[in-house]
Amino acid sequence: MKKLRIAIQKSGRLSEKSLLLLKEAGIFLNNSSRKLKSESQSFPLEVIYLRDDDIPQYVEDGVAHIGIVGENEFAEKECEVDLIERLGYSRCRLSIAIPKSDSYDSLKDLNGKRIATSYPVILENYLQKHGVKADIHVLSGSVELAPSIGMADAILDIVSSGSTLISNGLREVEVIMKSEAVVIANRNIDGDVKAVLNDLIFRIRSVMAASNNKYILLNAPNENLEQIIATIPGMKSPTVTPLAEAGWSSVHSVLSEKEFWGVIDRLRELGAQGILVIPIEKMIV
Ligand code: ATP
Ligand code: MG
Repeated sequence: MKKLRIAIQKSGRLSEKSLLLLKEAGIFLNNSSRKLKSESQSFPLEVIYLRDDDIPQYVEDGVAHIGIVGENEFAEKECEVDLIERLGYSRCRLSIAIPKSDSYDSLKDLNGKRIATSYPVILENYLQKHGVKADIHVLSGSVELAPSIGMADAILDIVSSGSTLISNGLREVEVIMKSEAVVIANRNIDGDVKAVLNDLIFRIRSVMAASNNKYILLNAPNENLEQIIATIPGMKSPTVTPLAEAGWSSVHSVLSEKEFWGVIDRLRELGAQGILVIPIEKMIV
């Protein structure tokens, strides 16, 4: 069987979670020492480890069939690749920030200003779209220091909690894009490899669905059973079995993490008791 080749960041904020995702998808790699390349014995897959900046180009060229990168890197490189799956981790945003005491009303205030960034393409596209002309200074790292050393009036950089900005005396004034880890794919993957890719994506979705959902069991008074069932509809519909005690049923279902607390409150109002919430290992969707 032909192997699918995936490019993963060698070391950085995407590496660990990407490898964990493969592991949870049942893909075990034969060397964890992270050389340039490793293979799986449990799945027809080969991993190559690269700097994240290089991944979009390697995927466009077909050196790797697919890759995992931050959406920001995908947008910056403007490579001829397809975004085929969002992975939900390494969430961050690309924002413009200025020294905290500087005034700011709108993007127009950046006209004629110097903006430092590692994302010149994204910045240029955004400024152009909004009819703003600024001087873009490309830096490969430590962008947040640029204003304090007089190199720039503003920056465009990755923000997650915002604490780096604060500790450098900056404030966020515009969010330009939101980003998360994504799978990108070459546009000409041949049939055999495509079948392996489809299998991988199916497994990844099962892993993600499981981590976004919980299994819930509870005891319900029969007089409120219908309302309780309506509150936790589950994948198809809940399992309901009678308890030994008359007038009560056991209800099993699946709940998404997002609606969790709201639903729990509602269930308690409806007289549900003995509520158990259990993590799901895999969820076949
Ligand atoms: P490389 O050496 O591979 O070029 P890098 O230094 O460019 O690595 P990292 O800092 O490891 O990149 O970040 C990789 C990706 O993780 C970023 O492109 C972004 O999508 C995401 N990311 C960056 N910083 C954060 C953060 N603070 N929180 C969450 N995600 C982040
Ligand atoms: Mg990089």
